[in-house]
Amino acid sequence: MILFGTRTYLYQLAILTLVCGRCGNPASHTLRKRVMKFTLFFIPLFPISTKHATQCSFCGAEQQVPKQQAEGLLATIAQDAGTAVPAGQPGAAAPAQRTGHGQQGGPYGQQGGGAPAPQQRNPYQN
Ligand SMILES: [Zn+2]
Repeated sequence: MILFGTRTYLYQLAILTLVCGRCGNPASHTLRKRVMKFTLFFIPLFPISTKHATQCSFCGAEQQVPKQQAEGLLATIAQDAGTAVPAGQPGAAAPAQRTGHGQQGGPYGQQGGGAPAPQQRNPYQN
């Protein structure tokens, strides 16, 4: 008896900021690659099909993208890491969310900051 079948592997390739086609939000999308492999005795041998898809993190809509487009998206990330703005969608730039600067003040700001009390030295100088 020969046991064979298929098994699907899911790879998360990248996280992109795209304008969702369903909910219209410039939300982060995960770009995934789904590879179905032929297995023999539960051992994966070779891939049967490879599909790419993006999933909106806002509404959960999954959209299949052709391999070419998926590779194009990955190339975009490789070129300018961090600012993943897909071509043809200006205005989808990530909003600046810079925290940790100037919000909490330094530790020196709350200790009076004035001159050290001079009265304590007066008895020794007089
Ligand atoms: Zn969405």
